[in-house]
Amino acid sequence: MLEMARHSGKAVVLGGDMRADSPGHCAKYGSYTMMNLEDNKEVDIQLIQSNEVGASPRMEREGFLRSLQFLESAGLRVGAIVTDRHPSIQKYLREQRPDIKHFFDTWHVSKGLAKKIDALGKERSCGEVLAWRRRIINHLYWCACSSKTGEEAVEKWKSVTNHVQNVHHHNSDLFPVCAHPPLEMRAWLTPSTKAFERFCDLMINQRLLKDVAKLSPHHQTSSVEGFHRV
Ligand SMILES: [Zn+2]
Repeated sequence: MLEMARHSGKAVVLGGDMRADSPGHCAKYGSYTMMNLEDNKEVDIQLIQSNEVGASPRMEREGFLRSLQFLESAGLRVGAIVTDRHPSIQKYLREQRPDIKHFFDTWHVSKGLAKKIDALGKERSCGEVLAWRRRIINHLYWCACSSKTGEEAVEKWKSVTNHVQNVHHHNSDLFPVCAHPPLEMRAWLTPSTKAFERFCDLMINQRLLKDVAKLSPHHQTSSVEGFHRV
């Protein structure tokens, strides 16, 4: 598989994730898997024992580094890597390897967001946001796969705060009007209510906007998750 990837002459898009033998911070062993996301085939697995790196939270970074080093020394040209938002891997790629595009896996971002919507829905007089949960998650995937740049994805994402109040024209050059056909009646949110204000805080939170800008446009790591489940 490495031979084939090398001879294709193309830069590969890798998906990486770690699986540990137990959840939380007491894992003893971890395996870091890299998948070639062009054909969803595993190209490397690195096994790490936590005492090699001092503590289990450091296993992910170490597994990632060893795998990247192995694949590059085998002659692979790495164009992009899709991972979850593990901070030490973000930091490493940003500072040491700006030549590799780093994207976030949309599923990991959507999981965190869905939890926050659920929590908001439980607050007093905010229950109506729950009716939007599924559509918001769909919107996140759509922003990721329909955008050519992170900036465009963010503009599309922000339009959701208008859309939920039945406003489909936006004050944005990159995304001036919603792309959907006319809609039937929905459970629109009412401006200036607590539910609407809290919903907007959640959607245009700075950290989330940063994550949306880095969502993977095509490839997701769901196949790596699937492999780990097996
Ligand atoms: Zn709309």
